[in-house]
Amino acid sequence: MKLFGKRSDGSKAANSNFVAEDIELVDAVSEEIEEDNSSEQVYTCSDCGVTISLSEIKKNLYVCPKCGKHAKISARRRISGVADPGTFRKIKTNIPFRNPLNYPDYAEKINGLKTKTGLDEGLLAGVCEIEGHKAVVAVMASEFLMGSMGIAVGEMVTKAFEAAEKLELPIIIFTASGGARMQEGILSLMQMAKTSAAVQRFTENGGLYISVLTHPTTGGVSASFATLADITIAEPGALIGFAGPRVIEQTIGQKLPAGFQRAEYLEEHGFVDKIVSRLEMRDTLAQILRLHEKRRKSWLR
Ligand SMILES: [Zn+2]
Repeated sequence: MKLFGKRSDGSKAANSNFVAEDIELVDAVSEEIEEDNSSEQVYTCSDCGVTISLSEIKKNLYVCPKCGKHAKISARRRISGVADPGTFRKIKTNIPFRNPLNYPDYAEKINGLKTKTGLDEGLLAGVCEIEGHKAVVAVMASEFLMGSMGIAVGEMVTKAFEAAEKLELPIIIFTASGGARMQEGILSLMQMAKTSAAVQRFTENGGLYISVLTHPTTGGVSASFATLADITIAEPGALIGFAGPRVIEQTIGQKLPAGFQRAEYLEEHGFVDKIVSRLEMRDTLAQILRLHEKRRKSWLR
């Protein structure tokens, strides 16, 4: 784990005079989250088929009580699952909509998703407390164009790192993404370099970055900031990789091993530090933040 202010060799970071814009925090997440518009009052697990009430699966953060399958969860519900109640404040960003390729119906699609999800774009980032420990928390929204990374998401990720640096807080990012946003062409690919540079700058200045890889974390997101953290956590069964297994098999002309690109396989091979159930995520993150604070205090003494 790293500490703010100094590099491990004691030298000052080259870019320590970097000043982020003023960070403005605004209220964003109501405790009463209603993202399910369906009239269905029951939830059926797609893996084991068990049927339970919608309120019960929500209470269990969309983890099947019978087989443990971690189903998709909205960004807002994810925040409410880790943040202390009433502590989350969103980092305000005013990123104008851009359609560099004049992609047909793109503006309508984005506007529709904003209304439907209540989000500004494919990332929800803010400052909150986790069991009393303050941190910047950002969540990729799989409900917003599959959490794909375009210009806005790249900028929001970068701003989250800048806020963490300015506020001298650790940052936790929950990733879930289909990769780069094809509607924005090469400009979406450039976000890989931009977000990686943001991680580098934050790390050089001694910030702690925890990445939580959730299902699915693929493409340009897996190949940039998602896998550059100091501590990499994954949810059970999450698909994590760059290209899909079928594409790899066709490219290399070989059969891939069982469980390839799953969180468990990646943990076994040293790519993931720890697999943590969503139900234990809050406690685990709080524990890491507590240890980090202790180390930081003893270092400052
Ligand atoms: Zn199940």
